[in-house]
Amino acid sequence: MSSKPKSHEDFLAEQLYRCWIVHCDICGRYGRFGDSPIHELPPKFQELFPVLTMSPDGVCQVCLPQYNFQKEMEAVRAVLHDYVQKHGCPCNWAQFEYWVSKEQGPGWHDEYQNILADESLHLSCFQQDIVTDRFDTFLTCRNCGRRWQYVSEEWRMLAYKNRLIPDHSRITSNPGLIGGWFATAGFEPASKRVLSFENWKIYMFTGEV
Ligand SMILES: [Zn+2]
Ligand SMILES: [Zn+2]
Repeated sequence: MSSKPKSHEDFLAEQLYRCWIVHCDICGRYGRFGDSPIHELPPKFQELFPVLTMSPDGVCQVCLPQYNFQKEMEAVRAVLHDYVQKHGCPCNWAQFEYWVSKEQGPGWHDEYQNILADESLHLSCFQQDIVTDRFDTFLTCRNCGRRWQYVSEEWRMLAYKNRLIPDHSRITSNPGLIGGWFATAGFEPASKRVLSFENWKIYMFTGEV
């Protein structure tokens, strides 16, 4: 009598096996712990559940770069919201003005800048004045009256350069900093200083690099 080979579901249904199974909530991949007792586990189990290394947050190695990136972008947004909560608006924050208004590209963009510019559109201190089209929006600060223009340019399929440019710039120096860049191969931002998230946060709070 031949029995049907066991499936994922069969193994998942058995407590004996389930305790060696790991699962990534993001991509749905199943695998097994690296230290599972391989000699006690049937070959079919080993085949269906390859070793899957998980991060402490329960994310597989395939999903980890994107997961970490999303977490970093959340942290960038949080820095903006923390500041605005304390000061009412970001208009007198020199580091903010530098970061959101600087030029990007040509063959790359600064993801921190994109996130800050986009998130600013949702700040309650900013009122959107005239929406001439999707990529051209004017903001007036309800807190201090400063005016900004939001500009978004698609420089490559589904890749954008977003900026927030004040009416009258108060920027006096260009330290050439960027964060979380994305580039076309061969067009990397060579002459710029790339800040890690931690260093960027220090810069934003203190102006020091
Ligand atoms: Zn995954
Ligand atoms: Zn303001």
